Amino acid sequence: MKPVKTFHKVMQFEAAPDIYGEPKCDRIEPKWAATSDGEMGVVCGLNSFDLEAKNFPPGTKVVVSVPCCPECGQEVELCRSDDSCDFDWDFWVIDTYQ
Ligand SMILES: [Zn+2]
Repeated sequence: MKPVKTFHKVMQFEAAPDIYGEPKCDRIEPKWAATSDGEMGVVCGLNSFDLEAKNFPPGTKVVVSVPCCPECGQEVELCRSDDSCDFDWDFWVIDTYQ
């Protein structure tokens, strides 16, 4: 039997915080943004998402990827606690999700 080697990405969720959170429109609130293949646009502002197994064929994979620092290459929490790297993640969040 041939192994399955090809997977098509049909859906993607990104942790895209709302940087204009209440009450003063300056609070960074964790949210998800969803993009689906074949649908135009992005659905923003989701608190959570539900992926019911019955809606997906056997073999579907859910991959979670976190960003790595463009300067030191480490994941966010490791970079933040590393004094030798001064990449500004707070600025990056505001610049990326404004
Ligand atoms: Zn870094």
